[in-house]
Amino acid sequence: MANTHAPRPGFVNAHTHLYSALAPYGLPAPATPPVNFVQILERIWWKLDRALDEAALRASARLYAAESLLAGTTTLVDHHESPHFIEGSLDVLAEACQEFGVRAVVCYGATDRNGGRDEGHRGLEECRRFARANRRPLVRGAVGLHASFTCSEETLREAGALARELGAVVHVHVAEDGADVADARRRGFAGPLERLLAADALPAGSILAHGVHLTPAQVRAAAERGLWLVQNPRSNEGNRVGYGVALQASAQVALGTDGWAADMPVEQAALERLAGQAPGEDLAAAGRRLDAGRELAAAFFGGAAGETACERDSVVLAAVGGGADGGATRAERVVVAGRAVVEGGCLLTGDIEEVRARAREAAPALWRRMEAL
Ligand SMILES: [Zn+2]
Repeated sequence: MANTHAPRPGFVNAHTHLYSALAPYGLPAPATPPVNFVQILERIWWKLDRALDEAALRASARLYAAESLLAGTTTLVDHHESPHFIEGSLDVLAEACQEFGVRAVVCYGATDRNGGRDEGHRGLEECRRFARANRRPLVRGAVGLHASFTCSEETLREAGALARELGAVVHVHVAEDGADVADARRRGFAGPLERLLAADALPAGSILAHGVHLTPAQVRAAAERGLWLVQNPRSNEGNRVGYGVALQASAQVALGTDGWAADMPVEQAALERLAGQAPGEDLAAAGRRLDAGRELAAAFFGGAAGETACERDSVVLAAVGGGADGGATRAERVVVAGRAVVEGGCLLTGDIEEVRARAREAAPALWRRMEAL
């Protein structure tokens, strides 16, 4: 009999990528190993995103949504890119999340890196189309930008204007690696945060993923403007981009997994391990980030006074033994928006074996398309 805990609010994964969920099903290693962050993007993730078609994306999104609930994560803040399947891509993500009953905030991460300004514009139009048309009760839309270093001035300005038009926020990678900072400096800015602000691209409430290479003054400036930062410890460690000690300068910092499984107790354990090794880190501040995600999510899903919708989402965790970074729990019971979606550790809203089987089936064709690029 598993040792169960008291009910607690559902976990919020404040930055992730549903499109990469098939990676554990045999993602091929690049022919030439990457030696820096930009090469990791060029040789792995920017090939994977170009290889995505509708079928592969659906299999990936359904797997990620279902597995998230089984880990007790009730809200996903997604950042999406599929350059050869832009129009309609956000509906595929939203349908998967609504199908299994996990809350989601979705955006297309507009970029000019493959097809210039036309590509950037199409990405933003997908955000507009989705935000206007979406009626799914568990899903909200945002405006996405990939990152300062892959976007023109015009695309940044268009994103800011669109966000103001929609009353939406912008979700963007900021200073994940020194390459983003170096690019903004070459363009005459102190860094990517200053470049995005100068382009009027960051309305209050916007979400900045990573911020590893921001200074304490830049982190404070982000907080003063009501901007969220999202730390992704396992991803940052895996990509060897560093650890963002300066994030302690803001209380508006949440926790994300950046495409890794949405098992937040495992991400939290990785954060505690890395925070403990980071000279000058404020361990108490780092420890508040997982719970801070509920405040971030509340801006999208609202709720009654004193209690947000997300705080009514609940999870009962059960201990199941140790692992490298925690891994010591699973969700026994999960409730989202008043409906039980996991009971006795089983998904009630779908057949998890069918979801996993479809992911296994879809993965090899995706790897073949990727390797042909
Ligand atoms: Zn990311």
